[in-house]
Amino acid sequence: MMRQYELVDRVRRYNPQADEDLLNRAYVYAMRAHGVQKRASGDPYFSHPLEVAAILTDMKLDDATIVAAVLHDTIEDTAATREEIDQLFGPEIGRLVEGLTKIKRLDLVSKRAEQAENFRKLLLAIADDVRVLLVKLADRLHNMRTLHFVPPAKRARIAQETLDIYAPLAGRMGMQGVRDELENSAFHHLQPEAHAMIEARLADLRDRNVTLIKTIEGELSTELVAQGIDAKVKGRQKSAYSVFNKMENKSIAFEQLSDIFGFRIIVKRVEDCYRALGVVHTKWPTVPGRFKDYISTPKQNDYRSIHTTVVGPGRQRVELQLRTQLMHDIAENGIAAHALYKDDRVSDNEALARESGAYRWLRRTIDLLAEGDSPEEFLEHTKLELFHDQVFCFTPKGRLIALPKGATPIDFAYAVHTSVGNAAVGAKINGRISPLLSELQNGDEVEIARAEGQVPPAAWEEVVVTGKARAAIRRATREAVRAQYAGLGRQIVVRAFERAGKAFSDEKLKAALPRLARQNIEDTLAAVGRGEMFSGDVVKAVHPDFKDDKKPRATATKKDPGWFGVGKGGNVVFKVPGQEADLDRSIPIRGINGDLPVRFAPNGGAVPGDRIVGILTPGDGITIFPIQSPALMAFDDQPERWLDVRWDIDPDKQELFPAQIVVTVHNEPGALGQIATVIGESGANIDHIEFVARSPDFRDVVIDVEVIDLKHLSAMIHELKQKAVVSKVERANG
Ligand code: MN
Repeated sequence: MMRQYELVDRVRRYNPQADEDLLNRAYVYAMRAHGVQKRASGDPYFSHPLEVAAILTDMKLDDATIVAAVLHDTIEDTAATREEIDQLFGPEIGRLVEGLTKIKRLDLVSKRAEQAENFRKLLLAIADDVRVLLVKLADRLHNMRTLHFVPPAKRARIAQETLDIYAPLAGRMGMQGVRDELENSAFHHLQPEAHAMIEARLADLRDRNVTLIKTIEGELSTELVAQGIDAKVKGRQKSAYSVFNKMENKSIAFEQLSDIFGFRIIVKRVEDCYRALGVVHTKWPTVPGRFKDYISTPKQNDYRSIHTTVVGPGRQRVELQLRTQLMHDIAENGIAAHALYKDDRVSDNEALARESGAYRWLRRTIDLLAEGDSPEEFLEHTKLELFHDQVFCFTPKGRLIALPKGATPIDFAYAVHTSVGNAAVGAKINGRISPLLSELQNGDEVEIARAEGQVPPAAWEEVVVTGKARAAIRRATREAVRAQYAGLGRQIVVRAFERAGKAFSDEKLKAALPRLARQNIEDTLAAVGRGEMFSGDVVKAVHPDFKDDKKPRATATKKDPGWFGVGKGGNVVFKVPGQEADLDRSIPIRGINGDLPVRFAPNGGAVPGDRIVGILTPGDGITIFPIQSPALMAFDDQPERWLDVRWDIDPDKQELFPAQIVVTVHNEPGALGQIATVIGESGANIDHIEFVARSPDFRDVVIDVEVIDLKHLSAMIHELKQKAVVSKVERANG
């Protein structure tokens, strides 16, 4: 196990200003916290965080990262707390360790391969500091190095997760070295036979080509030195995993693989890359289509190199990468390499240029981490503030659901499945019952309670943030409204048939559908309910011989209520006010929350006790007017739109209904207060008040009230009239 002074030495080697005391305290704290805990290997647990820290010292990372690595398992696995770590090591380190703790808790969640991309995004969303990810990758690297101690069943799961999530993450962070090792190690555990076979053949190839490799290295070096270029030339072999991948993807045998060997030429300066390239291309013929200049056009993860393939010594195809040492460090260590180039290490123009843009580069690289490779995606996703505008939640079975920030359990439910969203009635977040309108947080586990036959409230549409949920709610409410109109249409049609003295049946209507140019019964009834088709037309379609004996209809006016009309299957009947309503035929009306698309007349309303008429408005349902309402005159010439309606009040529910009154008051202070008091004491609601100046001495107050019924309204009007300030009270529409 690494000694305390060894850790400090490792850090001091690249950072002479390292905080020795801080490192020492972290070492002692973590050692005590982990105490006698053991790893699967039988080693003391504390050896693990030390090895993780050691990996990060190889990447020459800052003190805070190294200390966080030493402490990374303390909050989750020991009695240590965030508060204590904040106190002893400061909030910066506390935050890093907390981030690692959160990510560690996610290990309990199942991660299916198809969710790997989302999971990587979740890691990014949770790790608001890139150093958390660096420690996490080093942690995983050490766990993979010691995976053979872990029981086989668990081993496969960890190896698969490494391949699906952590290796690509390392790749996106530009850390090719870490990525290669994670991939190879996972491959070794997942497919031991294939791994062994490829390793054996690679070793064999290496042995047989030992001379050739030396020859090529020698010839390249000699040529470059002769041209005055200071360069290191190094032969390298592809990793077993990348060979395996190539064989799989291209379905080819090992023998058919080319490019198993490659050579790297590492030079001092950028110009040297191009000079070396000139030397190589002059000396050996190039293989067409294999030249790529990633120096002038770096890859998105800031990978820079020149790639070329030549027909080299012994007519062998030789794959070459030309790069500077800095480019090499970045290719191997990616984001971590950024820490390498601090002010005191600036060695040439290139590093200077990088230094000024370092933060920007880091930022951009972070932005790219979990994204695809196309420029379109790049542009698309750089706009996202590193997934801080996303939340990632889980189903109880561990499925990962990615949602925009501000998403609610309703959005979550619709993201799982439209049927889950439509039936949602409640939610549990992390096991606690929570409102469906709660804002979800990263890592929340969400369980949706369902009730079948439920219609999502239309108001949800305003609350949800995902397009999927909004569209589904709109669709579901549209269907519900359609069903409402069809129900209303059925009532209207059935009554029209009764008044015509005919019996209605679905079968008869079905036979008449072609004449109505409708697809089905539901469609037809909904059209009648919406007022797009008249019930009389339906009667005539079913009974073409039926005679429609229209009679003139009297007009209801305010002065002379006289007769009023009620639609009767296209006919008009007359009723004397005060006469009993035809209870069998009229459509029962409840409050505005009933099953029918019903509203009350604007500027006047209607209250139980009023004799009422319904006016059908295409696309808008029924509007209820008191029969004395002058507004009804507008519908005199459209008898088809008149519906016979009656009140059907639920005595158990004390609903309130709208009415409008006009109070003429003396223009004196306190008048309005007196009126409001009377209305309030009567138990009515005031919905809206408007003043209309009438004369210097009087003004009209137009008041929208809500009352229980006509009796209630009359009593209130009577009370108002008792007030000295009130000169007149009239009901609008009355
Ligand atoms: Mn660990």
